Amino acid sequence: MERLPVSPETLAAQGFGEADPVSGGLAPVITPATNFERQPDGSYRQGRVYTRADNPTYEVAEGLLAALEGADCACVLFASGMAAATAVFQSLLPGDHVLVSRVLYWGVRKWLAEFALTWGLDVEFTDTTDLGAVAACLRPGRTRLVWVETPANPMWDITDLAAVCELAHAAGARVAVDNTVATPVLTRPFEHGADLVMHSATKYLNGHSDVLAGAVLSARRDPFWERIRSWRRNAGAMPGPFEAWLLQRGMRTLFLRVHRASETALAIATHLDGHPALTEVLYPGLPAHPGHEIAARQMTGGFGGMLSIRLAGGAEHAVAVLQAVRVFKRATSLGGVESLIEHRAASEGPSSPVPADLLRLSIGIEAARDLIADLDAALGQAHPGQAAGSQALT
Ligand code: PLP
Repeated sequence: MERLPVSPETLAAQGFGEADPVSGGLAPVITPATNFERQPDGSYRQGRVYTRADNPTYEVAEGLLAALEGADCACVLFASGMAAATAVFQSLLPGDHVLVSRVLYWGVRKWLAEFALTWGLDVEFTDTTDLGAVAACLRPGRTRLVWVETPANPMWDITDLAAVCELAHAAGARVAVDNTVATPVLTRPFEHGADLVMHSATKYLNGHSDVLAGAVLSARRDPFWERIRSWRRNAGAMPGPFEAWLLQRGMRTLFLRVHRASETALAIATHLDGHPALTEVLYPGLPAHPGHEIAARQMTGGFGGMLSIRLAGGAEHAVAVLQAVRVFKRATSLGGVESLIEHRAASEGPSSPVPADLLRLSIGIEAARDLIADLDAALGQAHPGQAAGSQALT
């Protein structure tokens, strides 16, 4: 079907606007079948054989996400963000050198620390916000992949995608971008030269904290892309059709949710900036953030819904604030409609490089004034040394 040249917002809201050809229904159908009928001549009606390889319900979400990222439809869903990220690394060959952002989602760092060695990958962590450091670490002909997360968890460091892509490509390396936090609403990495984009679709893409899913997209259908696709099929790392259906449904409101979360995050960051109980508000939308200028150029329409605060009273104060909030939900993850607060160092465990005085906030779509009042009250009433159990936990 011919696609109208409409804006990404319209595409997302209408989920392509293609009615189901059988019923005329505007919501796509869910195909729970694990296998597809073979014709007497041995052929398959639509070329689909088995759901581990293909399912029409995946294709709706994959097509929509590809259109939003501008990836010419090269997208595959995975069972989780981690399944998506690890499929990219596992499509490399033993001995390949990989350069990875030093600040990044801890699950990827932990997986690399545990499995990269057995896979034979030569993984090097570097500060990808420092172009000199990236240039010094690239090994022409040996570096096969540069893995970048921007804004990066949980300090919200900003990497200049166009500059890193230029350096990496000159050395013969691909660039993969974890675009979970920015989403295609705020950053489209392919427009900055990225070769691959990865998502934890569990976060903003679905947006309702009720689906675990991931995705990898490619600018080209080259042999490396085929390895990633075949990894999903052969390792069985796909979501179920119901999750894929929920994901496409969540993506219909992606623009509204991401813009709202970004506006509120900026309002909260601006309000908290300079608060006497805090040493730092980490948010790329604040002019003092070291990555602000790049973010203002690279991100369109907002700086995202994630920020972190560092407490003047240290770890104890951070935990006291965590216990004192009443509107924010104390939970891990991000990108849902409800606002979350988390003590990242405790969640990541003893090997975490995250400062113990840091609280990570994922801003949802509630009224900004309720969130600000909640943080103001928690910062005002929680003092270091306050007994851990003295707050009523709701
Ligand atoms: N990438 C980022 C930036 C994340 O925040 C997460 C999860 O928190 C992941 C990847 C992993 O995704 P999942 O939890 O869907 O496996």
